[in-house]
Amino acid sequence: MTSASIPGQEELKHVFRQMADEARVPHAMLIHANEGGSGLPLAIYLTQMLLCESREACGHCPACTRTLGYIHPDVHYIYPVNTNKIVKRTEDRHSDSFATDWRTALSENPFLDLIDWYKSIDIESKQGFIGEEESKSLRRKLALRSFEGGYRVIVIWHADKMNESFANKILKNLEEPSPKTLFLLVSENPSKLLSTIISRVQIFREDHLQEKALSAFLMDNYQVDPESALDISFRVEGSINHAIKEAQNSEDPWLTEFKSWMRMAYSRDLNGLYKWSETMARRSRDGQREFCVSALKILDRCYRMGWMEIRIPMEGEEAKFYKDFSPFINTANVAGFLEMFQETSYHIERNVNEKIVWYDTSIQAIRLVHAGKKQVAST
Ligand SMILES: [Zn+2]
Repeated sequence: MTSASIPGQEELKHVFRQMADEARVPHAMLIHANEGGSGLPLAIYLTQMLLCESREACGHCPACTRTLGYIHPDVHYIYPVNTNKIVKRTEDRHSDSFATDWRTALSENPFLDLIDWYKSIDIESKQGFIGEEESKSLRRKLALRSFEGGYRVIVIWHADKMNESFANKILKNLEEPSPKTLFLLVSENPSKLLSTIISRVQIFREDHLQEKALSAFLMDNYQVDPESALDISFRVEGSINHAIKEAQNSEDPWLTEFKSWMRMAYSRDLNGLYKWSETMARRSRDGQREFCVSALKILDRCYRMGWMEIRIPMEGEEAKFYKDFSPFINTANVAGFLEMFQETSYHIERNVNEKIVWYDTSIQAIRLVHAGKKQVAST
């Protein structure tokens, strides 16, 4: 991970470089990451610098080669998992059981998000978490000395997915730090962590990513022409993960989902909506929440396009959808949609029967989209 493989974040990179240079690293850190941002790549960057023979993440010394192949024996990754078709036993429900998947996923895209990860280990319909089995595995690792005699780094990705049992175990490690052992937590929702953990970590906030930095990154790494790079950067609102997907030419999967859902709501296709609700309810809670967030972004764009005449760059199918659909999102329904999705997220978070929640949401969507249509007809 070179500095150039992470767009923007100059301040954090500078702070991390200084830490590595002076070998003054807190024993517990938390990177408060943006959604779809550079949290994990920044953690890898710091790790690589600490272990690199020349302390500068040179990329070619044996330590860097191992770190970048995600096989350095002194770097341990902990991430949310669950049982799947291959890992069936509860006692195997820890990161080591998924190490090969993890290496593959990271090599393909270090900016991956939780949903990408769940898909790659085929637990999309379940919640991943960091639990009891993980703390046993971690205890075994910490009992060993560092292999290379230098730093030992434990990266905990989506640290807010740790359950109480793991949190209490790790708290002990944070309270009684071992020498040259760094706990590096990455989280997009640190408020979900125990306050006792928060009080023991030094927090580093990822900066908001500027469109210019992101488009330069897309041009350098994905051979995107300057105009499309700017367009993509504008659209993804800071999500590098989404930007990469767009640069690789795959349509935002949530947009496809949203389009077919809205089509059914528009034509009052109750049967279709019922089936859709069933399918949606089978996704993980994180996936369902992500759909709510994406749907709100799409609706917001439609609203802005219809009423404020903001140019939103896009082309092809996507442009056609926005052009056709945006008039139906207007003052008659935009607040209603916002409220509806907030409520839906709230229910999903609280484990209410998801199928019923989504069917109910779909019925509300019919009412809302037709309220928008009625307003168009009356103007
Ligand atoms: Zn190196």
